[in-house]
Amino acid sequence: MAGLHERTQRIDTSTAHSARVYDYILGGKDHYPVDAEAGDAMCRHWPALPVHMRENRRFMHRAGHYLAQERGIRQFLDIGTGLPTAPNLHEVVQEVAPESRVVYVDNDPIVLAHARALLQGSAEGATAYVDADMHDPEAILESPEFRSLIDLDEPVGLMIIGVLHFIMPPDDRRLVRRLLDPLPPGSHLAMTVGTGDFAPEEVGRVSEEYTRQGMPMVLRDLRVASSFFDGMELVEPGVTQVHTWRPGSEQDDVDGRAIAMYGAVARKV
Ligand code: SAH
Repeated sequence: MAGLHERTQRIDTSTAHSARVYDYILGGKDHYPVDAEAGDAMCRHWPALPVHMRENRRFMHRAGHYLAQERGIRQFLDIGTGLPTAPNLHEVVQEVAPESRVVYVDNDPIVLAHARALLQGSAEGATAYVDADMHDPEAILESPEFRSLIDLDEPVGLMIIGVLHFIMPPDDRRLVRRLLDPLPPGSHLAMTVGTGDFAPEEVGRVSEEYTRQGMPMVLRDLRVASSFFDGMELVEPGVTQVHTWRPGSEQDDVDGRAIAMYGAVARKV
């Protein structure tokens, strides 16, 4: 990876970063003291945060598996990948179809520094990593990695999981559309959308804490969350809290007030 060294020099250990706070709360090891402090502060505001984050991650697993298994999707674009946490998307979909290809995208230099772990795909499949920002969709769509791995004559699974709450209006809608635009009909969008609908006070405080720590966050109600899928064909059960979207038999009992995330999968027509 050319330039890896210079780009990972950008790692800032003096302020908290969302990828590392997520890693800390999920029990990973790729974070700095400042991220642990921020994560602890957020959990004081809302002790359910680890359950919420775990269920967001499990939604990603189920949605990825569903797209590979039930919809035959064999190529994926994953925006806001986060630090490697097994299983990663390529492990989920290559288990169904080893030839599956995944292009990962994140804008955090520490994710770039750990990207090698995302690049250990199956022998038949392939994965690639693009260091880019969702605010610059052209950089993603025109990257050599996207162009060489993604065949725009075949449907694509676009995953935007656990990241839309960092994308402020009014650009949010245009950015999602721009990423969907070049994908052929039959492609799918799997997305989760942060919400204060179920624990407004606590989740509001977490959101303010993220914003205070330099990571502005936006929460959306059901109507706004659903509107991102307008013009698409929603897969049953539609837009739901992530833990109730096609739960597997292994689903634990989860208190709905602990889940501040809507999720849905929809087909581009
Ligand atoms: N998708 C993973 C990780 C979510 S954590 C999951 O759901 O488990 C959110 C990730 O989004 C972080 O890694 C953060 O670095 C990334 N992110 C935040 N804003 C971004 C942006 N504008 N462009 C690209 N990635 C972004």
